[in-house]
Amino acid sequence: MIEVMACLLTSFLLLYSSVRNYVRQETSSSYQGASPTPFPSSLFSASYQRTDSQSAYSSRDRLIPIACFTRWQPQRGGPIGADTRQARRPRGVAMVENAVAEKDRDEIGTSKEENQFNFGAGKRQEVDPRWKHPKPFQYEEDGMVVTRTSVWSAPGCHEGCGVLVYSDKETGKFIKCEGDPDDPYNRGALCPRCLAFKQVEFHPDRILHPMKRAGERGSGQWERITWDEALETCYKEFRRISMTYGGDSIHCLRGTARDNQWQVGRMANTFGSPNEYGFLSGTACYLPRLSLMIMTYGGMLIADFSQFSALRYDDPEWVCPECTIVWGCNPTISNPDFFMGHWVTDAMKLGCKLISVEPRVTWLAAHADIHLQLRPGTDTGLALGMIKVIIDEDLYDHDFVERWTYGFDELAERARELSLDQVEAMTWVPKEKIIAAARLFATSKPANVVWGLAVDMQSQGTPCAAAIAALWTITGNLDVPGGMCYTASPMGVDQPSAGAWGIYDLINEEMQKKRVGWKEFPMYRYGLTQAMPDMCLEYMEEGKVKGVWIQTSNGIACMSCETERWYQAMKKPEFIAAVDIFMTPTIQSCADIVMPVQTWAEKHSVRAHYYFLSAITGGCAAEGEAKSDCEINRELAQYFDNDDEFNQAIGRPEGKQHTWPWATEDEVYDEIVSPSGFTFHELMEHGPVYQKYVYKKYEKGLMRPDGQPGFNTPTGRIEFYSTLFEKFGYDPLPYIEEPGIGPVTTPDLYEEYPLIMITGARTTSFFHSEHRQIPYLRQLTPDPWVQIHPRTAKDLNISEGDWVWIENHRGRCRQRARLTFEVHEKEIAAQHGWWFPEQDGAEPNLYGFRQSNINQLLANKPGTTGFGADLKCTLCKVYRCKEEEL
Ligand code: SF4
Repeated sequence: MIEVMACLLTSFLLLYSSVRNYVRQETSSSYQGASPTPFPSSLFSASYQRTDSQSAYSSRDRLIPIACFTRWQPQRGGPIGADTRQARRPRGVAMVENAVAEKDRDEIGTSKEENQFNFGAGKRQEVDPRWKHPKPFQYEEDGMVVTRTSVWSAPGCHEGCGVLVYSDKETGKFIKCEGDPDDPYNRGALCPRCLAFKQVEFHPDRILHPMKRAGERGSGQWERITWDEALETCYKEFRRISMTYGGDSIHCLRGTARDNQWQVGRMANTFGSPNEYGFLSGTACYLPRLSLMIMTYGGMLIADFSQFSALRYDDPEWVCPECTIVWGCNPTISNPDFFMGHWVTDAMKLGCKLISVEPRVTWLAAHADIHLQLRPGTDTGLALGMIKVIIDEDLYDHDFVERWTYGFDELAERARELSLDQVEAMTWVPKEKIIAAARLFATSKPANVVWGLAVDMQSQGTPCAAAIAALWTITGNLDVPGGMCYTASPMGVDQPSAGAWGIYDLINEEMQKKRVGWKEFPMYRYGLTQAMPDMCLEYMEEGKVKGVWIQTSNGIACMSCETERWYQAMKKPEFIAAVDIFMTPTIQSCADIVMPVQTWAEKHSVRAHYYFLSAITGGCAAEGEAKSDCEINRELAQYFDNDDEFNQAIGRPEGKQHTWPWATEDEVYDEIVSPSGFTFHELMEHGPVYQKYVYKKYEKGLMRPDGQPGFNTPTGRIEFYSTLFEKFGYDPLPYIEEPGIGPVTTPDLYEEYPLIMITGARTTSFFHSEHRQIPYLRQLTPDPWVQIHPRTAKDLNISEGDWVWIENHRGRCRQRARLTFEVHEKEIAAQHGWWFPEQDGAEPNLYGFRQSNINQLLANKPGTTGFGADLKCTLCKVYRCKEEEL
């Protein structure tokens, strides 16, 4: 039976593939994306492929439509708001006839409002008076000083757990840390990374003084210098580069960031540059989902597990979800943003049903009511299949859809073009399970979705996010207790991690438009202020980037795909300065100056994320000469702020010469938190500030700037049919596109590389490439592991613990085999972020960063919108390493 089904599936895939290839030949033509040419749109594979040239961004006519299995054209009923659509307008909701509707594509995103990252949907609410931290922020216990703080910091972790730091009364040195049992967020729980923190704080390899290179780049030779010399060198070099080549020739790079992302953007602006970003292809980490939500939902939504209230499960307004879908993530291990995984298990104990959408059999998948074990990269098809079931069986929320959404008929039409047999063949999920999951989700009230990076890490992450978001929307689970709820700028404090402070204030308009990708990828300028990484790599390879500022990012060991390209490119700039806690392959390979930064336990900062505001309050003395990242930035900026000639030369806007007009870092934080009515020190004393969460804000006029009911989108409604996507020349509806490399898209490669590779699953030991030098954590995960199904391993003569090569047409690396039924027989799951701090750090070894670096097998290839990249769905083969290769 299994053979018969496999045969049928293979036949379907081959047929599908040959039809697709045939159609590809028939339909290939240059895509003239500029308005008014209609975009080619189809349910299957509304796919655009870049030409071989790596410089394919400058003109959209290099995007070539390939393969249209079933062609779909949107019904065009005239301009937005025309009569044909009027009939479907929600009752009682006025259109937001805002400026966006009037603009053409290239004008959108030119205002500060459009360009600001709108995490903060909804109006500022008052402090919830029902809770205040019961203890002072600092007190003595057993002869130690205890300081309450939060870990939401780079380097470190982006979760933001409440932590108590114990320090020596005399010296201020760190002694230990514990979870804060009174913090509503983590309620005293800590994971191994915080529990092992003492080994970070006092690690002998910490960078404790500023240093400059004493040999060739990569020689591993460094010489201690003073802070004055370090900052003065940075000032002179970045000034020279900015004045000689233009500010945009300086790129400012960061890692996951969080509390310091605004600093990196602002530092770029101080240098006169608009270019701030991370190394990741397609910015494929949350941004595909975020940008989609900002453009079509007017804000960002997250599953409500009571975290909006300090009273948590005891809040009488909160309702436990009846069903949750954990989609493409493993939250009990990864603890994604503003979401602790064990909240899902708490809800399960309260009766919440669980649907797991996950290629692996994780702990949650094993305990789910329904596990949809899909083929990696086929999430959009699965979501559309579930939408189809819900609509066909009339399980959707008519009232909500009628009153508050736009483009439902078009969405329904698109979903109906699919047959569930097609979905099953595409996703490998039996259609009976798809039907059961759709029914369970649609008939549970409330229900929500905990989604993860599997959505972003496929080239069409944006339409995938649109399809999944439509599931919770058509079922009426929007902004209701236990459903999907809007996060907000806590207490009106601008989300300081996402460039809200910067870009539009400190550089002139001409320079703003030189942000890399500004013209080519309009979504990068709607709600976002960062540069487009894939294009930045090309600029660097072409020698256009002359100066680089790296703030706590180990790019070549972690985020960068086609690692060798980034490694070679980073050799080209004339000057590179880095700020970090430890030496890394990235710093060793290319930096000229390195400066020591404080850990989260040593520095002050602010956590202004999602729905609560809290202070990060340095609880112990800094080791060596380390300074906080904010202070390093502030002190360097003073040189530029006092340089009239520089500011004049770069055309600094009137009144903006003082890019960092604060005398101390506490003054910086006073200003950041000022909209809340607190000073930074009052915030420290208060503890996390929660606002009273207001559900169904869209009914109360709390979502839109004009105070009318509805949402802050161009139509004032949730847009299944995105008017902004349409303006930008993208398909306005969710659509399916196969991963760029895979069994369907590249059958020839599939023959040679018959395994689908997933990467990036988290461990509790490490945060991305961090922590490899921490003994306790390394003991938990001593080597890079690749998960292989035991039957697959047997066929390949691989045993548990063998070192194996993982290889594809782009490159190879080696990891140790872990045989487990957790992965599908046709898939493997490899770890990311590996390097070996115990090895030689000089060239050519560079801490062995190539040895197990899985990103060597992945491409820098963004999706159509510039967001998303196929990082969790590519092909490979696996074979044992020979003795002599180890
Ligand atoms: S390392 Fe673990 S305990 Fe610490 S903030 Fe992150 S998730 Fe919380």
